[in-house]
Amino acid sequence: MPSVFIKTYGCQMNERDSEAVAAQLVAKGYTLAAHESVADVVLLNTCSVRDLAEQKAIWKMENVAGIARKEGRQPILGFMGCMAQSRGKQLVEALPDVDLVLGTQKFHRAAEYLDELLAGRQTQIVDTADEDGSQATIREHLLTGAADKKSVTAFVSIMQGCNQHCTFCIVPFTRGEERSRTIPDIVAECRELVARGVREVTLLGQIVTSYGKRDYPLREGKSAFVQLIEAVHEIDGLERIRFTSPHPKGYGDDLIEAFGRLPKLVESAHLPLQSGSDRLLKLMHRGYTRERFAEIIGKLRRVRPGIGLSTDIIVGFPGETEADFEETLALCRQLEFDLAYVFKYSPRKDTPAAAMPDQLPEAVIEERHQRLMTLTNELAARKYDALIGSTVEILVEGPSRKNPARYEGRTRSNKIVVFPGSERHQGQLLNLRIERTGSFTLYGDPAVIGMDEEVSAGPALLSA
Ligand code: SAM
Repeated sequence: MPSVFIKTYGCQMNERDSEAVAAQLVAKGYTLAAHESVADVVLLNTCSVRDLAEQKAIWKMENVAGIARKEGRQPILGFMGCMAQSRGKQLVEALPDVDLVLGTQKFHRAAEYLDELLAGRQTQIVDTADEDGSQATIREHLLTGAADKKSVTAFVSIMQGCNQHCTFCIVPFTRGEERSRTIPDIVAECRELVARGVREVTLLGQIVTSYGKRDYPLREGKSAFVQLIEAVHEIDGLERIRFTSPHPKGYGDDLIEAFGRLPKLVESAHLPLQSGSDRLLKLMHRGYTRERFAEIIGKLRRVRPGIGLSTDIIVGFPGETEADFEETLALCRQLEFDLAYVFKYSPRKDTPAAAMPDQLPEAVIEERHQRLMTLTNELAARKYDALIGSTVEILVEGPSRKNPARYEGRTRSNKIVVFPGSERHQGQLLNLRIERTGSFTLYGDPAVIGMDEEVSAGPALLSA
């Protein structure tokens, strides 16, 4: 059977889609190639959120095709995902070596189309059409974790699409309208994962807090998303629940109250701020003010002291003045995120912001990007340093990515802890004493805390 190599660009949703495609192909007998140079099929799962992500995938494909041609190989080459969706057949016109273009509602058709191409029944396939029910097709998992042990964490795709139409964002065009899976279907998938050894799930969607809005009415004041979290929380053997990516508007009191009530919902939340200027938030079509945003953070911190908070910020949105930017800096100083992803604004096809006046020069965007990164990294480092000497619960995920001689796990507040563990710790909840910090990493010392000391007590919960 043929071998396949899949390279993923972009977010966790894309990683999850790639895993589902890989699992689908493995079930058909494909093997997973360790490198593109030895694969019969090379698939690039693409991202369109910024232009650079699109360019990287195009360069990669040109490079893979060029080397294969030189070596006299003819692998099947395919683009999948967001850029495949937005550029469609332009991709095969520009890159004639490409055989397959698979849109965001077609991942489940990968095996069927590859069969056609490998058998020579078709020479090129481009499918970016909408497909009813496609949101429920990202279901199969590989769960091949580190050191040949099964993964203890898994991503679960709960919905597809986005209806927010932020003026900078291409996602509604690449992922379509919001479509949610059903609660029983998602719970069944989570149960199967737990039966296979998973202890932590991350519920995924473009805007998870909008989950099921059209399908599930409010119940006792609780949104469909909170109803889903409650249902997943019931699963015996599951230890931790995370979710991403939410919208700040989705942090209603029902969700904040759920953080105070549901111990498996870990002390970690992502709230994409985008800008600290109310004027820009309005131009971005975000639907909240800096005051409302700060209020949500305050409520979350009251309900879960020590909660880890991360954010996304765009610098250089059209018309951003130095005063707007300083408001972003000031809000970051006030809110002290544990982690900030800072993005340089990138004009995207068909988005309203791309046509707005006052697009900023690259040099201004670059300079602001540097300043904000410096500030947010400094603030984050202080958060990490403050944990030195404390004891944290980690779920051990496997060998450390930074130092494979060591093991690593994640705290409930979503911080990586590296410690001198071994294979037998994989999948365990451990308490470790934090001895020192590195760049966005904590180092735990097992000499201080017994390595087999499993956690029994749950986290302290406060009411909203
Ligand atoms: N759920 C998120 C939200 O509330 O906006 C959207 C997730 S988006 C795929 C990831 C991040 O990419 C966004 O939060 C935003 O900061 C960034 N992003 C999106 N469009 C962008 C653009 N045109 N230029 C730069 N960054 C962008």
